[in-house]
Amino acid sequence: MGQDYQNYIAGEWCDADSGERFDNINPADHDDLVGTFPSSGAAEVDRAVEAARGAFDHWRLVPAPERGEIMKRAGDIMTAHKEELAQLETREMGKVLDETRGDVQEGIDTAYFAFGEAPRMAGKTIPSEMPNKFNMTTLMPIGVVGVITPWNFPLAIPTWKIFPALTSGNTVVFKPASDTPATATRFVEILLEAGVPPHAINLVHGGGSSVGRAIVAHPDIQAISFTGSSDVGREINRQAGGQLKRVSLELGGKNAQIVMDDADLDLALEGVLWGAFGTTGQRCTATSRLILHEKIHAEFLAELNKQTAALKLGNGLDEATQVGPVINAPARDGIHRYVEIGQGEGAHLEVGGGPATGGSLDKGHFYQPTIFSGVKPGMRIHDEEIFGPVLAVIKVATLDEAIDTLNATEYGLSAAIYTRDINAAFRAIRDIQTGITYVNGPTIGAECHLPFGGCKSTGNGHREGGDGAYEFFTELKTVYIDYSGTLQRAQIDNR
Ligand code: NDP
Repeated sequence: MGQDYQNYIAGEWCDADSGERFDNINPADHDDLVGTFPSSGAAEVDRAVEAARGAFDHWRLVPAPERGEIMKRAGDIMTAHKEELAQLETREMGKVLDETRGDVQEGIDTAYFAFGEAPRMAGKTIPSEMPNKFNMTTLMPIGVVGVITPWNFPLAIPTWKIFPALTSGNTVVFKPASDTPATATRFVEILLEAGVPPHAINLVHGGGSSVGRAIVAHPDIQAISFTGSSDVGREINRQAGGQLKRVSLELGGKNAQIVMDDADLDLALEGVLWGAFGTTGQRCTATSRLILHEKIHAEFLAELNKQTAALKLGNGLDEATQVGPVINAPARDGIHRYVEIGQGEGAHLEVGGGPATGGSLDKGHFYQPTIFSGVKPGMRIHDEEIFGPVLAVIKVATLDEAIDTLNATEYGLSAAIYTRDINAAFRAIRDIQTGITYVNGPTIGAECHLPFGGCKSTGNGHREGGDGAYEFFTELKTVYIDYSGTLQRAQIDNR
């Protein structure tokens, strides 16, 4: 029997006005109901925004270091509850415990980074061209921020957005993914326990087309921070752009790992196994393409096939599991459609290629880790994001061809190159068109104090993580202080 969870709006835990609810079921075990959640809509968003607007007047005046201390307390509480949070995340999202522990740790690190960053929210002093005049910039919060997040990092992604948003003095209306609302609810409970004022954080559960759209359309929300699919990102950009809202978009990826003929092949193999099949391939940075130099192609592929076929699938709560389920049945069916497309396009199916069934796997949405060889740019399995455990292998003859192939997608999030040749590594760093590039490491594995984000269709130029996140959540104010006691006209009186 799952718990009945609620929204948190205007300082109160409450149901949807309609009284309707939706179920959250463990993707590894359809008998395990994690909980039911309110199916909210525009009316609940209106109330949440009103509360957040009211709270902004107070919260923006709390000294930034004091706001930072609250974020630190949130980090401390998350540390104390790390295992509980990881278990909950695995139950509702499916990825293995090792990974959800990492997801929680990323949230903790982001809290402590906020604590460190809060006293550093400094402007600049800038010399004036006039005598007896002092110029400076200061950082101001924006107002009410709408936060819309996906299901694959149920805790880390909300923390990437909400810690810097609150630390900067904004107030928040938060809509988590419908597939992972329980972890999001625990996070809001932790923020409140840490001391975030009740109206400054509001949580509204419900669908993207109801709650998500209402947040984007609301005239009193000044900024939207969104992570999710490119299609929804484009829609948000159109709508929010029409109202001149600030929008941060972190969208899809079609990330590739290059393995050159001089690489440490064992290391490269470990990297691709983790990059392609960790989180069951459901990371925006997942390795979904493997670009192999022709000299090592056959040998590398043979070993990769062997090790992929041996991966142990199962419930992520079982410590022996290496690959958990995919998030839901439509996702599993969508992945399988791409596998059929790949076969139709003439790619060669090496391993996997269908839902994984039998025994306890029948209780969840499992898909076999799958590898295609003989893939070429222009094929849909090469160009389009599948967001599942499907790896496309491409054979190349030179470094130039490898880099051109890597760049031959509309996305530009993450990339990796394995080589021992320092010249090749630096050319790749220079020429690869991605926001994140790894040398001798897989395409996944962000550290929260570094910028995170992509170019091309992966986003709109903003970065999360690091101090750059604080730029998104603040307005710059330029201040001129004239202490000359006379009217001084810049560009006129001094020329
Ligand atoms: P979606 O875009 O479907 O959903 C993301 C969030 O947006 C969910 O909360 C969803 O609500 C909501 N939403 C859906 N439709 C709308 C709408 N019309 N208006 C406003 N909000 C809406 O993505 P997924 O959850 O399926 O996540 C997978 C995608 O996210 C992949 O493409 C992946 O690459 C990308 N991603 C990118 C990352 C990055 O940093 N670049 C990191 C992680 C994922 P609901 O759940 O209720 O449908």
